[in-house]
Amino acid sequence: MRALALVLLLGSVASYADYMDHFVIRDDVGVRKAPYLGPAEILVIPVEVAGHPTFDLAELTRFFTSNDPDGFVKFHETASLGRYKPHVTVAPVVAHLSCPLPPQFTNCSVARGDVSVFAAGIDFLRESVRLTDANGVDFSKLDVNGRRGTADGWVDGVMLITNTPFGGIAFPFGYFNRGDNLAGGMGGPLVVDGVKIGHIAITGSRDQFSQVHEFGHLQGLTDLYDQSFSYPGLHFSLMGGCCSANLKLHDAESRFRLRWADWHQVQGRQRVRIGPAETTGEVWRLGVGDEYFLIENRGPGGVFDKQFTARGLAVYHVDRRVKLKGDEGKFQDRILDGVNDDKWHPYILNLQADGLFELQASDAARPDYENDLFRDGDALGADSSGTPFSADHPVASTNYYSGTPSGIFISDITVTPEGPIDVTLEAPGADQCNDRLCDEGVGCAPVTCESPGAWKVGGCGCNVGAEGALGLGLLLLLEQRLRRRQQRVFRG
Ligand SMILES: [Zn+2]
Repeated sequence: MRALALVLLLGSVASYADYMDHFVIRDDVGVRKAPYLGPAEILVIPVEVAGHPTFDLAELTRFFTSNDPDGFVKFHETASLGRYKPHVTVAPVVAHLSCPLPPQFTNCSVARGDVSVFAAGIDFLRESVRLTDANGVDFSKLDVNGRRGTADGWVDGVMLITNTPFGGIAFPFGYFNRGDNLAGGMGGPLVVDGVKIGHIAITGSRDQFSQVHEFGHLQGLTDLYDQSFSYPGLHFSLMGGCCSANLKLHDAESRFRLRWADWHQVQGRQRVRIGPAETTGEVWRLGVGDEYFLIENRGPGGVFDKQFTARGLAVYHVDRRVKLKGDEGKFQDRILDGVNDDKWHPYILNLQADGLFELQASDAARPDYENDLFRDGDALGADSSGTPFSADHPVASTNYYSGTPSGIFISDITVTPEGPIDVTLEAPGADQCNDRLCDEGVGCAPVTCESPGAWKVGGCGCNVGAEGALGLGLLLLLEQRLRRRQQRVFRG
């Protein structure tokens, strides 16, 4: 059974693991990535450069406490369904009398994702960590988690926050370092108080969006915005389109890959109720292998996703064959030529309900939530022309990128006033239930994968045979009548 499950694992049997590779493989926590499941001890180092606005330390500290309802900890607990539980220590401020970066960084300013800071920033990072150690921070306390969920000799996460104009970048320090490792050796990760630091995120102090985004890189996520800025990239994602003051959830594919989602796989035709992503973490997957469709319920009304002006189903066409490679060092390719840069064939495409693809128009494009999310009256199915999706043929459908119909349909959508969305989903009737993300543990397997004729009652997700379906159907009818009568009684 174990051997069979291994064979069925999603994706290829890549023998490499890279930094921020969106989990091409998963056995690389520690050396390449921060833990993303279970408890984690995170260190935030405020780095203050003279001549720039001083920190609002109270505000900075508040954002990283567990009781800030809009904060870093609450965000991760919400997005992960409580599966990732960071605890953050804010270190004493490290003060620099002048900009620790070379003169080409005028005003000590670094744009988000500026790769030239990789080489220039090595000494700056090393010195900031050395001073933090000298300030009395015990780095050995930062290792409570790892690949197997226990301490592994690598810190669980380190992030620098500067008071300079620094957009943000996540830095695979161990990959670039050729100099002092702070433990008497040369090259590779820093070693402080006996634990290794392989990668560090850096952001400016005023941008909480970037602080969570850059930390997402440490967890293995890559950028989902367009690195060439011809369009904003993926909108409904913290790793994608920028320019939001509010934090927004990671998209369905990112949460699915992080094993933070309750993943339902669709087989056959089903009428289902999809709960809001923010409170239920539900992701519905149609199709198997490397190319498939994901659906989630997004909208306003919770703590995060405040910029949404309407609730509806976000529908994504995912193709993991697009530029995702686990070979070490290839993360640099993804920074220069991002996985979502091809707006007509990205890794993760926002399928837009109005079929206008206005989000593809320019870098200034912003979601029209009412019409881009799938809501009452919207549907998605095959494009009978069989012509592949492209700028010349921008037709929203469930066809694969080859143009071949997938047998996937989304119809009869009802957004309920309480938040859940009722929808009829259809996927092929067989061979849909064997994909696994991992061998064992939370999020490895679908929560449900129902066969045709199965009925879902009251969120039970139970499978019943065709003979049971008729009886259950009658029960459902009775239940609906009873509910209506109760409502009448209530209203009366
Ligand atoms: Zn980024």
